[in-house]
Amino acid sequence: MLKMMVPCMQCSKLRMENSPPEMWGSKSEKHYEGYVTDQISFSILCDQGHTSVVLLQVMRFELLFDQGISALRKGNYDSAVLRHSAAREKFFKFYCRVVWLQDHGDCSLFDEYWKHLRRSERQVGAFVATNLALRATSDFPKDLQKLKKGDTLRNAIAHSGKIPCLNEAKEYAERTYEFISKYCDQLKVHFPKGISKETLRVFKEQSANIHDQLGVSRNSISGTTVSVPTSIGLNHGLSAERKSFEEVLATDIGGKYMYPIKS
Ligand SMILES: [Zn+2]
Repeated sequence: MLKMMVPCMQCSKLRMENSPPEMWGSKSEKHYEGYVTDQISFSILCDQGHTSVVLLQVMRFELLFDQGISALRKGNYDSAVLRHSAAREKFFKFYCRVVWLQDHGDCSLFDEYWKHLRRSERQVGAFVATNLALRATSDFPKDLQKLKKGDTLRNAIAHSGKIPCLNEAKEYAERTYEFISKYCDQLKVHFPKGISKETLRVFKEQSANIHDQLGVSRNSISGTTVSVPTSIGLNHGLSAERKSFEEVLATDIGGKYMYPIKS
């Protein structure tokens, strides 16, 4: 589970209404912890009794990647590899969807096609075919070969109970990071419209029934969406600003500040 720390937005709002601007700084605000659920959201209860629902503006593959880094930092090397493997799979689908959405209004036909690609090897095949059609980078085959070097390790952990060591989990994480970051950058350059459409679609889907899924009532609570500075940084700048893998490893994403977008 990924732990997030956020201030209570209702307390912040009250403070802004009742104190001068120099007192608005968030540094002194008490932060409350919440654990991210499968709906990429969490709820917090502050000392004043306010319950807030927080929806993270991140894609599932970004979250899975950071969960893997968090596991790596805690010494849970097998979970780290499995989370990073899941991040790769989710990224393949995200990539193909974004390319599709760049010139299409919705995903219904895409989803019909994708139903035939449940197995992960087929999804890799779809990703390869999409890249082939785009002819976007000539180093793609080499990149993919490098990425797939870790498949044996992942399968041994998942199916044979292998216990990986730090270096194996780190190498797997680094390959995942380099690959996803690079191909995210490619999407940012060539398919920005597709990224906007897909992220909007995902947030709408998540917020539609978030209260029920978190088990909190719609009455008497406030909802907030927050943008999180993820390691992959889909919403951030291009590769020039990308962190090195060592920097990624040194950052505790869950414990970092987050930016409220709206409430
Ligand atoms: Zn509060």
